[in-house]
Amino acid sequence: MSTMFTEPEERVALREAVKKLASKYGREYIEKQAAEGGKTTELWLEMGKNGFLGVNLPEEYGGGGGGMADLAAVLEEAAAAGAPLLMMVVSPAIVGSIIARCGTEEQKQHWIPKIADGSVTAAFGITEADAGSNAHKITTTATRDGDEWVLNGQKTFISGVDEAQVVLIVSRTADAKTGKLKPALFMVPTDAPGFTKQPIPMAWKAPEKQFTLFLDNVRVPADALVGDEDGGLWQLFAGLNPERIMGAAMSCGLGRYALEKAVEYAKARSVWKDAPIGAHQGIQHPLAKAKIELEQARLLWQKAAAMYDAGDDFGAGEYANMAKYAAGEVACNITDVAVHTHGGNGLTEEYGLANLLIAARLGRIAPVSREMILNFVAMHTLGLPKSY
Ligand SMILES: Cc1cc2nc3c(=O)[nH]c(=O)nc-3n(C[C@H](O)[C@H](O)[C@H](O)COP(=O)(O)OP(=O)(O)OC[C@H]3O[C@@H](n4cnc5c(N)ncnc54)[C@H](O)[C@@H]3O)c2cc1C
Repeated sequence: MSTMFTEPEERVALREAVKKLASKYGREYIEKQAAEGGKTTELWLEMGKNGFLGVNLPEEYGGGGGGMADLAAVLEEAAAAGAPLLMMVVSPAIVGSIIARCGTEEQKQHWIPKIADGSVTAAFGITEADAGSNAHKITTTATRDGDEWVLNGQKTFISGVDEAQVVLIVSRTADAKTGKLKPALFMVPTDAPGFTKQPIPMAWKAPEKQFTLFLDNVRVPADALVGDEDGGLWQLFAGLNPERIMGAAMSCGLGRYALEKAVEYAKARSVWKDAPIGAHQGIQHPLAKAKIELEQARLLWQKAAAMYDAGDDFGAGEYANMAKYAAGEVACNITDVAVHTHGGNGLTEEYGLANLLIAARLGRIAPVSREMILNFVAMHTLGLPKSY
């Protein structure tokens, strides 16, 4: 057995291929789409056509037959090329994984090929205004009525609903209204009667928009339920661990992008004699520290993904949380260092780094906040009493 820690050849090749494709679009494309209210559809579909979006999904349903480590590598490379695709966290990672692991044969045949080729984008809705970090408090309710389920409730901060054909809604069933969350997951079409969305004006300029959702007696057929209504939390975590791994990979990619820009600038910009600003330790050390922290975070998500792909859900949960924490922190640090290295240019639209500060900040808040991860690690990893 090799004692080297390297990614398999196929993943290295996958990274190269994604880098090539995403670089063709690059940061300029994302910024233009964000400024003009456009989407990333061309890039998304090209990623799908090349098999990158469904690389983690089973081959028999049109996926690539790889794992979460492959999908996260795809997202990291796209983000490192300046083109983070937020909906990859949601569509193939959360929704694709949940359907692949918990769906019926018909659901797999229906949804997975379309999620894999990008012709369907699936959004994911768990967050509610009155529940926030405490998902046990969600009140969106599904009631059985003959052959149908009737959903009522509200969701907030749901990404990309305007570009999605369907949202996987996390609800509870009417007879499971109190106590711990017993989630029931439904594929709800975005054009279903009674389903409305309202955009949330965000300070973050991105092609992906955020929405408040209202479900007012939304009727879906019995087979919209994914998994078992009594299946418990593991079905949800079949998607939430991938979400954390992908969030970490996206933050790492964003960090790589910002670090590369900062290093380039530090080498080129010269204001004292002939030496570039990057010759000074005051500029070098924060960049070197950021590089070390970045590699730490990358190792953590790779470990989390390897555990998920090996079927160790508990271990994957622990490491996915730690990876998400580390990557969220380093992305915030690096974007700050990158802005600072650019001096006044760091805050101009031309250099596009200031908006990345906000994008990086997202990695500290979502999908699970830094504090909730610390709560998890304190309690589950260190065995300290539950504090919340
Ligand atoms: C851009 C964006 C996209 C998103 N996309 C989606 C999506 O597609 N689908 C979806 O379902 N959700 C989505 N979310 C929601 C996201 O998951 C939540 O914002 C996040 O889980 C935090 O919940 P909250 O905003 O209600 O914060 P709150 O729960 O109100 O927390 C506020 C602050 O209090 C802290 N806090 C809360 N409880 C504790 C505690 N016990 N101990 C210590 N500190 C605590 C938190 O860490 C946080 O700093 C998105 C959010 C954003 C900003």
